[in-house]
Amino acid sequence: MIQDKSLEKVLSTTKGHIQKLSNLGVNTIKDFILYFPRTHADNSEYTKIADIITNETVSIKGKLTNLFTVTSKYGKKITQGVFTDDTGVIQVAWFSQPHLTRLLPRNKEIVLTGKAKYSFGKITFQSPSYEILKPYEEQLHSGRIVPVYHETEGISSKWIREKLKPVIDGYIELFEEHLPDEIRQQHQLIGLKRALKNIHFPESDEMLDQAYKRLSFDELFILQLKVLQKKWHWQHSGNIQSKVINTEEDHLKEAIKSLPFELTGAQKRSLLEILNDLKKPFPMNRMVQGDVGSGKTIVAILAALNAVKNGYQVAVMAPTEILAKQHYKNFIQLLSNFSLNIQFIAGSTPTKQKDEIIRQMKTGTADIIIGTHALIQEKIGFKNLGLAIIDEQHRFGVKQRETLKSFGTPHMLSMTATPIPRSLAITIYGDQDLSIIDEMPAGRQEIVTKVVPETKRMQAYRWIEDQIAKGRQAFIICPLIDESNAIEVKSVIQEYAYLQEHIFPNLELTFLHGKLKQEEKDLIMQDFKDNKINILVSTSVIEVGIDIPNATIMLIEGSERFGLSQLHQFRGRVGRGEHKSYCFLFTNALSEEGKKRMDAMERHTSGFKLSEIDLQLRGPGEVYGVKQSGIPDLKMASLTDSKTVEKARSSAEMIINEDPTLQKYPKLLERIEQTQKVYIND
Ligand code: ADP
Ligand code: MG
Repeated sequence: MIQDKSLEKVLSTTKGHIQKLSNLGVNTIKDFILYFPRTHADNSEYTKIADIITNETVSIKGKLTNLFTVTSKYGKKITQGVFTDDTGVIQVAWFSQPHLTRLLPRNKEIVLTGKAKYSFGKITFQSPSYEILKPYEEQLHSGRIVPVYHETEGISSKWIREKLKPVIDGYIELFEEHLPDEIRQQHQLIGLKRALKNIHFPESDEMLDQAYKRLSFDELFILQLKVLQKKWHWQHSGNIQSKVINTEEDHLKEAIKSLPFELTGAQKRSLLEILNDLKKPFPMNRMVQGDVGSGKTIVAILAALNAVKNGYQVAVMAPTEILAKQHYKNFIQLLSNFSLNIQFIAGSTPTKQKDEIIRQMKTGTADIIIGTHALIQEKIGFKNLGLAIIDEQHRFGVKQRETLKSFGTPHMLSMTATPIPRSLAITIYGDQDLSIIDEMPAGRQEIVTKVVPETKRMQAYRWIEDQIAKGRQAFIICPLIDESNAIEVKSVIQEYAYLQEHIFPNLELTFLHGKLKQEEKDLIMQDFKDNKINILVSTSVIEVGIDIPNATIMLIEGSERFGLSQLHQFRGRVGRGEHKSYCFLFTNALSEEGKKRMDAMERHTSGFKLSEIDLQLRGPGEVYGVKQSGIPDLKMASLTDSKTVEKARSSAEMIINEDPTLQKYPKLLERIEQTQKVYIND
């Protein structure tokens, strides 16, 4: 395609400039036109010289006279001139650009854009940019809204405008519309060519908005099409056996009746969504999101029971041994009426026992197998795995997920206690369907949350001591340290030693950090659970999902360094029992944004609400952590723009439902294939 032609053949410029463009990822005509501006500056109005206010950026239109370059006593070259319009006269000065004496015409219309400054007793227009007006030629730098690009050495916005304009004029007609008409009409989007022209050189403010709207929708739509198509291909690839799991109403009713509580509306809804998926002749790929304590486990247990009653095996994988064991106990307890063979397997399971469990898994005698990633080690196999459940799925890598899937492509159910805003979720987990448990079981107490001023630190410690005397336990989270793991570990040990020696000499304290082995961490957590430890001093590694009903105090140091979701996660460690629970936030210097976050923590109890606020305050990368996540590298769109994300999602769903392989939309297909890497971990 001509659009793929190298810029070297098109631009009249130096090899150096071509190389610099290439460093920006711009090699072809298409790259250049898709090199979108960072922002725009409104240079459409001219200011009269008589109306100039110092230190404000303005464009003035007039004529230059008396231009000459002098050398100051410090050896600096100053080019000076006099600029005149019909309202007045102003001095102009440029520094170290003597060539302007040759370049700038006298007594011809030019436009200067810059600031007037007051210095040494006079007002001078200093180092303005200029545009020489030529009859019959479009103005690029003034008299309009102008694009401002990310610049690098030697590649200024001005340079880009001058080089890009003819490329757009010459080649834009080659860009073919790929969005189907009905989608453009539905969302009132302008055409591609018009959008591309206007994103660089807008005809008006209105057209700039339209261009932005079209191109950001476009970007999100293509992204959604890609993930949905990937999902479709996975669910319909030829080697997938259909594992239809029918709803066993009687068994489910019996299990639900035996629960010591009523399911919440959100639990029932999520369960129905899962049961509905299980009935389909292709594998489910669903994620349940719900705050800590919202009751995801019961939903998983009921889904598991349903699968077993259909003759399938179920695997449940949790990120740590202690968490897996907790699930194991819960499954056994809640399914005790059904005489199922439920097994537990983890790194610590003795080899002989392990071999026996694996044998049962392979022969199909084991109905439900719960464990850590020991579940997916080499020797493992299943007779007939129908459902795989992954708890805290974000703690597992893509590979581990895929391994579990590879045991006969079971239905997949993932759970996470880290709610993220929907706009982010449908982007990051785009190939999974979402079930949301956004309702807490009745009768849960709210956790009292308070930002504690430094002056009340001792008071807080004495209060904690008091609570511990009454039998309770506390967590103390040390500040997040970016520099290195080693420093973080050191600081936790120091904090622990200080607290043990000076603050709580009569209590049992210990510490936890990420450098400890998993077994050591599990051991500490077990001791804490057994109330052999009063206070656990920890880094942010503290395990998610563990029930320690007797812990009622969460004290967080340097709270401002954590995002809202993480603070909320910490807070979720307490308030799991009958006793009233508390979360104390200590902070150092607070920024405006930090204040808002602390305020949100005091005010809100829903993880969903907090993650929305965090997304608005800090953006998707901060909320989710760019590195490990699948946050796409968006040029135009923003994931905080949840309306556009939703529109793009529903339009993409419509197209994929109607025509999953895009036979009717060859241009879309081509466009998707050109968009190589969408996700960072693709
Ligand atoms: P999470 O979503 O954090 O995994 P769990 O499933 O571990 O939450 O449930 C937390 C606690 O709440 C458990 O002790 C569970 O028995 C209890 N629970 C779950 N659902 C309900 C309900 N509908 N009403 C009352 N208690 C519930
Ligand atoms: Mg859980």
